Amino acid sequence: MAGWREVAPDVFVRRYLPVDTTVTAVRGRDGLLLVDTGGSPAEAARILVDAQELGAEVRWVVNTHAHYDHTFGNQQVGPGVPVHGHHLLPAHLDAHERPRLARWRAGVGDEPQRDWHDVVITPPTEPVHERSWLDLGGRAVGLVPLAPGHTDGDLVVRVPPAPGPGGGPTTWVVGDVLEEPGPPMYGSGCFPLRWPTTVAALLDEVAPDDVVVPGHGRPVSRAFGLAQQAVLAATADLVRHHHAAGRTVEQALASPRGWAHPPGALVLAVERGYEEIEGRAT
Ligand SMILES: [Zn+2]
Repeated sequence: MAGWREVAPDVFVRRYLPVDTTVTAVRGRDGLLLVDTGGSPAEAARILVDAQELGAEVRWVVNTHAHYDHTFGNQQVGPGVPVHGHHLLPAHLDAHERPRLARWRAGVGDEPQRDWHDVVITPPTEPVHERSWLDLGGRAVGLVPLAPGHTDGDLVVRVPPAPGPGGGPTTWVVGDVLEEPGPPMYGSGCFPLRWPTTVAALLDEVAPDDVVVPGHGRPVSRAFGLAQQAVLAATADLVRHHHAAGRTVEQALASPRGWAHPPGALVLAVERGYEEIEGRAT
């Protein structure tokens, strides 16, 4: 796909097939911060080659969350390069991504097209428990672990304007808590009922002119995020409604009442939503 696009001074995004993952790089005086490593070692190798175009060495890596399309390239990160991630990310890898890889290797997964022969699942080296800062040299970048939403290990990278006049907007690299063109995917380990609240709290901190970089697709605005938050909230309300009416997951999905997305994309939204209501979501 197209090359790096500079969305704010020294903040670059680039999109990678096959699932249109958006990778972000932030350049400081001391090196490059890379956000997410793609969905396979081969994809990560491409990302690292492409990063050389930016004229700085990759010195830091951040994972926005555990899903394979953001972490299965971690093993390609050079020795001595710290990988930062939400402190709950390794547990998600164990609960969901390792079994996903094992199913694929056993030939029983539903993702036969993947390139996972040589994947070694590699958790972040630096667990993030609370908001913190990384100093890239003349550019401090915030790490913001979120409450449960797309997963329970989502982490946002906040890049303030560059110092001095013309420093540009703040950039928020949000992983898959927002997606473009959307809708957000209800994947393994999601928290459909808490997700809209988590996004609303995040967007409270985002200014109208800030740049929001989702985990897939093009950069968007706060207004786009608010619209997507409303859809997430409507889905959560509908899940609560069907649960309160005593419907099974299948009955809820078969209900003619206005789901915002095709029911096939909402199986986990309802299953996991019911688990949240019943206190079974982990
Ligand atoms: Zn993703």
